Amino acid sequence: MNEYEAVIGLETHIQLNTTTKIFCACKADSWNDPPNTNICPVCTGLPGVLPVTNEAVVEKAVLLAAAMHAEIQPVSYFDRKNYFYPDLPKGYQISQYDRPLARGGYLDLPLEAGSVRRVQIEKLHIEEDAGKTRNDKNRRLIDFNRCGVPLIEMVTGPDLRSAEEAGQYLLRLRQLLRWLGISEADMEKAHLRCDANVSIRPKGADYLNPKTEIKNVNSIVAVREAIQTEIERQIREVEAGNRIEAWTLEWDEDAGVLRKMRSKETEADYRYFREPDLLPVHISTAWQAQILANLPELPLERRQRFMEQYELPEYDADILAAERSLSDYFETAVAAYGGDPKRVSNWILNDVLRMLNESGKSAGELQLKPDYLAAIIKLVDDNTVNTSTGKSLLDKVESRGRAPDEIVAQEGLAQVSDTSAIQAIAAEVLAENPEQVESYRNGKVSLIGWFVGQVMRKSRGKADPQLARSVLETLLNQ
Ligand SMILES: [Zn+2]
Repeated sequence: MNEYEAVIGLETHIQLNTTTKIFCACKADSWNDPPNTNICPVCTGLPGVLPVTNEAVVEKAVLLAAAMHAEIQPVSYFDRKNYFYPDLPKGYQISQYDRPLARGGYLDLPLEAGSVRRVQIEKLHIEEDAGKTRNDKNRRLIDFNRCGVPLIEMVTGPDLRSAEEAGQYLLRLRQLLRWLGISEADMEKAHLRCDANVSIRPKGADYLNPKTEIKNVNSIVAVREAIQTEIERQIREVEAGNRIEAWTLEWDEDAGVLRKMRSKETEADYRYFREPDLLPVHISTAWQAQILANLPELPLERRQRFMEQYELPEYDADILAAERSLSDYFETAVAAYGGDPKRVSNWILNDVLRMLNESGKSAGELQLKPDYLAAIIKLVDDNTVNTSTGKSLLDKVESRGRAPDEIVAQEGLAQVSDTSAIQAIAAEVLAENPEQVESYRNGKVSLIGWFVGQVMRKSRGKADPQLARSVLETLLNQ
C-alpha cells in the first residue's frame, strides 16, 4: 500500500464574550435564556433600522489578531453575504470579505520532541452570527437570540498533517482565547465551532487534491475522530481507484459516521457586496496601541520562559502555563518562596491541582494564596512541620483562609524534633510490642517502618519521621 499524508485546514468560528451583540444593544449571550427574548428590530432585520458597530468587538478581534501575529488593517469594511435560510431574517449576513480586519498571521504548535508546526492563518475577520433552527416533529422552530452575536472567523492554511495535530491546534486556540479573555471558547456551547477541510496525497507530494469539508463538530475529541475517519475513507477510495469528490460531510457523533450533506457552495454564490449601512472600521495607531497595552505575555511564550527561566521540565511548564491564573499563581509563589522553582512546581502539580479540580475554582480564587503555599513549603523545609502535616495544612488554609503559621501555632502542629521526647515515645512503643521487637531482633528489619508508624501515631503525626527512625534503630539494636 502507498504511503499517504493528510492535508488539513480548519475553519473556526469564535463567539466573543462581549456584553452586547455586534450591531445592537441586545444581550449577546443567551445560553440560559428562553428563545427570542434577546432580540430587537436591528438583529431581526426589520426594515428601516440601522446597525451600529460595537467597539468592544473590534477591540477583542484586534487582541486576537495581534496574538496570532497577523497584520491589523487600519481600514476594513463590512460586506453583505447573501443567502436564504430561515434563521437568517435579513436574507444576508453582515461579514467581511475582501478587506478584512487582519491579514496573515500564524500559530506555532509545539509538537512532540521539541518540533514545531507553524499553522498559517489565511483569513481573520469579524461577522455576525445567524439564528438557530430546531426541528420539532413537522414544525420548524426558529430562535433569533443568536442573530447578531459577534463572531471572529479564522481560517488556517492547509498546514495540519494529522487528526492529532488538528486537535492540538484547537486545544492551543482554546487556551489562547481564554488567556486573552475574549471568548469562553467552550465547544460544547458552540462558543468555538470548527469545520475541517480534509484531503490526502502521497507522502512528500507538494500538490493539493480535492478536499471534503466536515461540518458541525462540537468537541475536540469529535474533531479528531471525524478527521481520522475521513482520512481513512479517502485512502480506501483512492486505493480502490476512485476519485475524491468535494463533498460537504456532517459528523454523526453517536453513530461515529460521516454523512454527505450537499455539494459545496462557492464564494460566488454569496453575491457579496459592501454593507451600505455601516461605516468602515478605522483602527487608528493610537487606538491600536491602547488596545494592545492589554496584550499579555502569550501562553506558548510563557511556557517557553518557564522552561528557561525556572529550568522546569516541559511537562511541568505545559501544565503550569496551560491557564493564565495558574501560571500567575506559580510565579507569585516562586517569588515568595525564594528557593528551587521545581519544588514549588511539585507542590502545585501534586496538591494544588487536586484542590482546583475538587473545588472547581481557578488558581486566582483559592484562599490558599501563593504566599501561603510558599510559607507552607518553607515550614516543611526548615522541619517546623513534617511533610504530611504540611500537606494537611493546604486544605486547612484553604477552608479557613488563615496564615499557615497561625494554624500551626493554634493547633500545636509543630513537629516534635526533640530527641528525648521521641525517645520516650519510642520506648513506650517497644514496651507495648515485645513480639515485634523480638522478630526485628531475629532479623525481620523491615519492621522498622511499622515501628516508625506507631511512633507517628502516638505523637499524633507530629514526630519528625527521620529522627523517629534513627531513635528506634538505636533502641532496637541495643
Ligand atoms: Zn438586537
